[in-house]
Amino acid sequence: MQSLHRIAVLAGDGIGPEVTAEAVKVLKAIEEVSGPAFRFQYGLIGGCAVDQTASPLPAETIAICNNASAVLLGAVGGPQWDNKRPELRPEQGLLQIRQRLGLYVNLRPAKVIDSLANMSALKPDRVRGTDILIVRELMGGIYFGNPRGIFAKNGERLGVNTEIYREHEVERVAHRAFQLARLRRNKVTSVDKANVLESSRLWREVVTRLGRSYPDVELKHLYVDNCAMQLIDKPTSFDVVLTTNMFGDILSDEAAMLTGSIGLLPSASLGEHSALYEPIHGSAPDIAGRNRANPLAAIASAALMLRYSLHMEDAASAIEQAIERILKRGVRTAELPGKARPSSTTRMGDLVAQTAEKILKSMRPKKK
Ligand code: NAD
Repeated sequence: MQSLHRIAVLAGDGIGPEVTAEAVKVLKAIEEVSGPAFRFQYGLIGGCAVDQTASPLPAETIAICNNASAVLLGAVGGPQWDNKRPELRPEQGLLQIRQRLGLYVNLRPAKVIDSLANMSALKPDRVRGTDILIVRELMGGIYFGNPRGIFAKNGERLGVNTEIYREHEVERVAHRAFQLARLRRNKVTSVDKANVLESSRLWREVVTRLGRSYPDVELKHLYVDNCAMQLIDKPTSFDVVLTTNMFGDILSDEAAMLTGSIGLLPSASLGEHSALYEPIHGSAPDIAGRNRANPLAAIASAALMLRYSLHMEDAASAIEQAIERILKRGVRTAELPGKARPSSTTRMGDLVAQTAEKILKSMRPKKK
């Protein structure tokens, strides 16, 4: 029997457990076709971990994640933990797990699903066909550089942050971007501010040098201000966008608005030996426990996990096709505009699971 992929499931708080359960349901449907493939191990993170263990990231959870091929995360946080000391805030669990697993690259796909093109903040004709993958450096840059702080000098206070990029930090994320472009449309746009910042000048030099090892991938450089404009003006012209921690933080939210459906978007954070997959939305305490949450971002995160960590491209693609097919049929959860009666979280999960299983079966050659 083939060895099972260990998947750490950290459902977290609010709607986290509801949407993660649907992602696991879909993975189990994949197993109906592929045979046993996954071993799920559950761990605590966030507010529920604070309540049960007095830590937002217990040691047991770290051990489960270190032992897994990939981590599937729901969401953390909620008003009941907002007044906790900073080290007991649920979000600390998320920041710590990213650091502990050495996740240095964040992937945020922004794909406009044809049947939802009218939800975009832009005109449908402008965004139709948009399919962008933002590759953001996650462990360096201005969010982590020293010196940092608020200091007093000459009778007034000054706030200081420092943008630092070391060559190896740029190299490892740039390699990922070029490799990912090869799985897509072979185009990388590297985004910096090399006309003003030395850290960006180094970034551009390193990316240009590495680009020579990927002659089949077209490399273009854009200043971040120009990129912000082009994302609105010509969103379909982008494939992979490679950028720094802070620029990626901002541009990935801008790109998400092109799709207009922030509740449908997955993300991946990759390191050398680990990877974590999660929806970009939060724990939505306003709708938690009511079977109303949209599970598609969590399910799409599981599809990314199959593609990038487990190399099960057929299964990943089957799930993504199932999501598109169901939305095209007009099925909607409550937060999406639509004419039909809204579907519940569990019903949406059932439909994706059944459809993905059917699509995957049709991809496999029939046994004689
Ligand atoms: P949120 O994303 O949780 O919710 C924003 C709005 O979108 C709400 O109206 C919510 O009902 C809706 N929404 C979000 N996901 C949805 C889904 N899957 N289906 C249907 N509707 C959905 O953001 P927020 O309200 O700013 O934050 C709530 C809590 O989540 C806070 O404690 C925050 O710190 C935390 N948070 C966690 C993460 C994470 O775990 N990665 C990310 C962002 C926010």
